[in-house]
Amino acid sequence: MPKIYIWILFLILLMKGDSIMNFYKNIEPIHHPNDILVLVNKNHKLDKNYVPKDLTKIDISYAFEDKFMRKEAKDAFEKLSMTAKSLGYRIVATSTYRSYEYQEALYTQYVKEKGLEYADLCSARKGHSEHQTGLAVDVEGSNQDYDEFEKSPEFSWMINHAHEFGFILRYPKNKTNITGFKYEPWHYRYVGHEVAKIIFEKNITLEEYLKNFS
Ligand SMILES: [Zn+2]
Repeated sequence: MPKIYIWILFLILLMKGDSIMNFYKNIEPIHHPNDILVLVNKNHKLDKNYVPKDLTKIDISYAFEDKFMRKEAKDAFEKLSMTAKSLGYRIVATSTYRSYEYQEALYTQYVKEKGLEYADLCSARKGHSEHQTGLAVDVEGSNQDYDEFEKSPEFSWMINHAHEFGFILRYPKNKTNITGFKYEPWHYRYVGHEVAKIIFEKNITLEEYLKNFS
């Protein structure tokens, strides 16, 4: 192999390794957890005592069971789900607010079942889950399986319209090096419709928006 290619390969590996190695390093505590644009990821951690003050129950027609989100996000989700319903779709919340302790138990279970490396791709460590903000929602469609949401007719509607209600696909395909998580077609995050529109149109992540456009 010519020397130049070896160097290019080396640089690619170095860059990739660098971004992956930064996850869960230099962790910053989150000072404004009530901010609608709060960034919670592998480098930004919520306090173990943080519980949103305005958690509100989602109308049971749009949730799998009793599920809570922050008031503004809950109102927006109900509007989204109601609109989808009027078009013949079924978009139901399966997981919304999760406490610090619940996330800890969930992650520990994942590690036990799948090992540390895979668990870190799919599940957040305690304090690092967006679900603790009350602004995130996992959904399922008419095939009634969140894991298979991408195969449901609701998915393409959601991809094209979620931003109109203030939601973004939080962990898109091919963005794992930025978000730290594998592609999750079912996980949406409320950011308000102005920011959601920009993120949708520019095809970027919340991390990229906050770094370059806010
Ligand atoms: Zn989720």
